Amino acid sequence: MSDVSNNGGAAKPKPSKLNPNVVPMPEQDAKVRAGNFDEVPTGYTMEMAQEEASRCLQCKNEPCRPGCPVEVPIKDFIGLLRDGDPIAAANKIKETNNLPAICGRVCPQEEQCQAPCVVGKKGDPVSIGALERFVADYQRDHGDHDAAIELPESTGKKVAIIGAGPAGLTAAADLAMIGHSVTVYEALHAPGGVLAYGIPRFRLPQAVVDSEVEMIKKLGVNIEYNAVIGKLFTIDELVDELGFDACFIGTGAGLPAFANIPGENLNGVYSANELLTRVNLMKAYQFPEFDTPIKPHNKVVVLGAGNTAMDCARTSLRLGAEVTLVYRRSEAEMTARIDELHHAKEEGVDFQLLTNPVEVIGEDGWVKAVKVQKMELGEPDDSGRRRPVPIPDSEYEIEADAFVVAIGTSVNPLVPNSTKNLDLNKWGYILADPSTGATSKPGVYAGGDIVTGAATVITAMGAGKDAAVAINRYLGGPEPEVAEPEEEVGTA
Ligand SMILES: Cc1cc2nc3c(=O)[nH]c(=O)nc-3n(C[C@H](O)[C@H](O)[C@H](O)COP(=O)(O)OP(=O)(O)OC[C@H]3O[C@@H](n4cnc5c(N)ncnc54)[C@H](O)[C@@H]3O)c2cc1C
Repeated sequence: MSDVSNNGGAAKPKPSKLNPNVVPMPEQDAKVRAGNFDEVPTGYTMEMAQEEASRCLQCKNEPCRPGCPVEVPIKDFIGLLRDGDPIAAANKIKETNNLPAICGRVCPQEEQCQAPCVVGKKGDPVSIGALERFVADYQRDHGDHDAAIELPESTGKKVAIIGAGPAGLTAAADLAMIGHSVTVYEALHAPGGVLAYGIPRFRLPQAVVDSEVEMIKKLGVNIEYNAVIGKLFTIDELVDELGFDACFIGTGAGLPAFANIPGENLNGVYSANELLTRVNLMKAYQFPEFDTPIKPHNKVVVLGAGNTAMDCARTSLRLGAEVTLVYRRSEAEMTARIDELHHAKEEGVDFQLLTNPVEVIGEDGWVKAVKVQKMELGEPDDSGRRRPVPIPDSEYEIEADAFVVAIGTSVNPLVPNSTKNLDLNKWGYILADPSTGATSKPGVYAGGDIVTGAATVITAMGAGKDAAVAINRYLGGPEPEVAEPEEEVGTA
């Protein structure tokens, strides 16, 4: 049994100020949760989930479905839940999505499936993510996790997947379900990619990732850990020497970017990935049970405005620091999900906006302060956002013993550069057909952040799915059966 569950005995909390029409999900009090790594929202009860499901109009034309990059049958799963069958609802989602408990928690539904929701035109859209999370958790916690598995006959074809992130795991699962023999090569000692090393446990508990990866392994997918492709084997060697018939590259974009300001070589300066990997993957937050080194810091300055910056700020807070987040534009330009921003504020992160770091100041080799400069917004730049312009003579220092840079990542060049005849774009990302993932090298496909640059879990999964279809065709595998359309029951 997992350490996360649906919220059996919770009382219904007050409606949220952010989404007043949605059935609110109970969550830990901000002061309490700022001191622990337990999940913040604690999940719906069955009653709450059914009440929220009853807001769905069951629209015949399902505008929500194309909003999801893996086209989850949203109307159908919500209908099954509303009718009292959460396990059938979970199995319905799994027809197109092998990671529903993960997606229910981390997908930006407000920009995807919930954006075209008809209910949202006159209020808040149906909380599709919360319902997806509920049914997936319900199925896991009620022991029906294996119900949907029926292993196919082997096709005799072998596929190598490079990277066990959402793109690789999705491609692996879909190919295994057709009957291909799938081996995933993962550089780290654990599966999940960013799901394991990046997104903190208070947003995505380990048990949720473990349980969904376990399901993928039950499909027959073999995962080889500590296997750095480009070093252990090249892609060419996987094909020529190990006999793989096709490869999918899903190695993500994990190379950290820095601010290129003086002082970034001081002790106490971290990239977001280093901080988050130490804490999440190496479990520094469970010290001394796990003896990963992470120096306790008292005052942390985080630079950035996206989900990663919020994750770093909230993680540092939980490790006991006072946290200041600096960003050179205003709140309107921040790219973090509104929920994450709201949670970070509630937990006590100090936001110093229109503020840009110009130098990290050190003493005896360690960070002592971050010198920042105030900014104002000028004319829009190429991105359409108003350009931040420095205000002369506005510099000041923020006392700090750590500085965390969370301003993005770029491509890890190992696989692209060690693979012959693989076309790359000018930034080093792999050039791949957007609808099939086919690269310039026959039999080699790619998808997820290694193609698009940093994006989202569900877009990486969508790319993995599309590539699985294309790889199966390339291998001459059986076409998956298409289900007969069900009779329409919708009203709207
Ligand atoms: C801190 C953080 C928070 C985020 N929060 C969200 C969120 O809330 N919602 C959301 O939708 N998206 C979020 N994202 C973005 C999302 O996680 C990524 O877009 C997504 O994980 C990309 O999936 P991927 O499979 O392409 O790559 P990754 O998840 O990066 O996985 C790539 C895998 O390949 C492995 N690998 C790399 N090189 C090699 C090699 N040479 N050999 C073998 N294996 C290799 C890596 O170790 C890794 O396991 C977040 C990203 C970060 C960094």
